[in-house]
Amino acid sequence: MPRSQHYKAYRPSPFPREERDRVTILFGGVTWKHERLAGAALRNLGYRVESLPNPTRRDFETGKELVDPGACCPTYFTAGCLANALREKVAREGRDAVARNYVFVTASGCGACRFGQYLESYALALEGIGLPDLRIFRLEQDQLSAKSTRGQGLDINASFMLGALWACMIADLLGELEHQARPYEVREGETQSALEHSIEHLERAFLERPHRPGQAATILWYLTSGHFERALRDIAPQWAALELDRLRVKPKVKITGEMWVKTHEGEGNYNIKRWLEQEGAEAIPMSMAFWVDYMLSFRLMRFNEAREAIRLARLKQRPVRLTRALLRRAYERLRHALLDLAEPWPDQDELARLAQPFYSDRLNGGEAYLLIGEALHAHREKLAHMVCELAPYGCMPSTMSVGAMANVLGHYPDLLYAPIELKGDAEIHALSRCQMILTEAKRRAQQEFDRALCETQLSLEAIREWEVRNPQARRFGTVLPHAATVGTAARYVRYVGEMVKRKDGRPAGSATPALANLEAAR
Ligand code: SF4
Repeated sequence: MPRSQHYKAYRPSPFPREERDRVTILFGGVTWKHERLAGAALRNLGYRVESLPNPTRRDFETGKELVDPGACCPTYFTAGCLANALREKVAREGRDAVARNYVFVTASGCGACRFGQYLESYALALEGIGLPDLRIFRLEQDQLSAKSTRGQGLDINASFMLGALWACMIADLLGELEHQARPYEVREGETQSALEHSIEHLERAFLERPHRPGQAATILWYLTSGHFERALRDIAPQWAALELDRLRVKPKVKITGEMWVKTHEGEGNYNIKRWLEQEGAEAIPMSMAFWVDYMLSFRLMRFNEAREAIRLARLKQRPVRLTRALLRRAYERLRHALLDLAEPWPDQDELARLAQPFYSDRLNGGEAYLLIGEALHAHREKLAHMVCELAPYGCMPSTMSVGAMANVLGHYPDLLYAPIELKGDAEIHALSRCQMILTEAKRRAQQEFDRALCETQLSLEAIREWEVRNPQARRFGTVLPHAATVGTAARYVRYVGEMVKRKDGRPAGSATPALANLEAAR
């Protein structure tokens, strides 16, 4: 009989500071935009970094072979991707060299779901490919500073965390612009080239970031310097000048879901954002950095709840409140530098309040109340025709949220909601389910557009003629007012209707804040 063994938690051997010049940090699991900018932020601090390839179905299958059964699908994709990338390196560089010269860094937390076990799953995958000695380190999601890498090879301090956070915020903004513009671009590929140029430019800005001595000076620099805003202002004109045909009627689909699958752009989520665009929709991606805002708000909520029991609770709340305010201000500054083309973050307390009757804000596993709060916010504020929730197979918090949504739909029967289960190998089933809801979303977008034409007494021909005299209206830099309307095409019609009412028929500065800002910046 096999002897039973005591469970031993994974504990990597030290990564000494002297090894920093020789050892490459592997990381991944986000979009190429996030990875390029975060990579540049880390290179600026003297690290050698390399992002893993985008996970594929093949990686998923490898992950299933190597990791414990019943893991959630992001674990399989990431573990398999890491294992396959390392196998290739071993074939090129040799086993011992790979074990010595690479470490893997991943985000993790204390649960309540499998997020707390990522490290163990990846360690199991490494054991399976004969690399048990390759070091894996985790970044605790709620710590700005943690000496968690034994040996200090990886110094997780304010420079490290703020660099990653700023990279995330900027990549989020660029991703949002990309998804707003591409479905309407007149010349195919122009959005992609603006995006690639922007990432290159921002990468340089991260690489050239000046260093400040000490944590306090670094934090102050991030909060007060205009370094990244200037870089964003440099690329803003290229975005503002993109020519769009916003008379294409498309339903807007808000993507929500578990962090890994909603951020991912590839086979891990059936390439859902691209698929939606091919199906004639406009996808609204979620911000990754908004998660930090959630974590700060969650702390505040807990403080509030326990204020009777915690000594000086109000006083202790202040730094968290201040951090949250500074974070939101920093995001707003970056957003403003990109001509306010991206949407502001929703109010976190409002999301919690909306979700509260259906999902307790005390449950903090997975995306917590955010999935329900975001769905209701998008619906009530007329930001999307439909919500597509991406739920990984084997994900406990997503299962709870999808279950709670049944109750939400009872109260909001008008909300178009498509929960998609992601299990790597059921693409047709998941996408056809999404397609059914999308058909209704398309119908609503068309109705809204027809109503806008009717109420403004405009015809398509009249708008096209007006555009000839007012070509700047076709530029991405012309921000459309919300006009209590969801769809871009309907908003555009209402915008043109307003402009036509004016004497000279030219867009006024107040209705096109982005262009006005651009002029001011020049
Ligand atoms: S939220 Fe779901 S998918 Fe993400 S780590 Fe937890 S269990 Fe896995």
